Amino acid sequence: MRCVILLGPPGAGKGTQAEMLSEEECLEHISSGAIFRENLKNQTELGKLAATYINNGELVPDDVTIAMVRDRLSAITSESGFLLDGFPRTRTQAEALKDVLQEFDENLRVVAIYIKVPSQELISRLTGRLTCRAEGHIFHTKYNPPKIEGRCDHDGSELYQRDDDKPETVKKRIQVYLEQTIPVIDYYQNQALLVEVDGNQSVEEVSAAIRSALKV
Ligand code: AMP
Repeated sequence: MRCVILLGPPGAGKGTQAEMLSEEECLEHISSGAIFRENLKNQTELGKLAATYINNGELVPDDVTIAMVRDRLSAITSESGFLLDGFPRTRTQAEALKDVLQEFDENLRVVAIYIKVPSQELISRLTGRLTCRAEGHIFHTKYNPPKIEGRCDHDGSELYQRDDDKPETVKKRIQVYLEQTIPVIDYYQNQALLVEVDGNQSVEEVSAAIRSALKV
């Protein structure tokens, strides 16, 4: 069983790569951001609590996020394993994850993939991003446009711009990433679990680089 952790700044392409990889490798895709957005859409208590943080480009508090992911991990059914997209984002979350993973099979193989993208690329990637209303499939006005404008290629649902992909919030998210998530990259590097992949290439090239990193 495998645990793949996708790390990288907002706009690195984690979500797009996670969609492809989870399907190819039969890994359960766990996106903390998508779970929060789902809760927001359904107006649950968790969604209401998370909304202010998300809309301000800040991180949802660790205790809330960790409890949510722990819950989700207790419901894993795939024997191949799972892929974490957007979690952990702080050192405290990384340490909590380590504890949770100890409850899994002792043969669980953990690998953290760091998709590295220069900061100046991120703003245009995020502000042009389009997300599908039904399933969260990801497109981009310029780099990955849908076949029919405003409609998802996979399920035909409406494409929209996430509130937190507006320019003011994007800047804040990148700042939060630099302050709080860079230490997570160091954390996995120090444990020799990190593989770095150049994210400044086409979607297909990044995907090929990730697949070859996973074969090692
Ligand atoms: P994402 O879809 O991964 O870009 O996440 C969207 C937003 O959800 C983030 O900007 C945070 O506000 C919140 N979020 C997602 N994952 C986490 C996490 N691991 N820790 C704290 N907040 C998170």
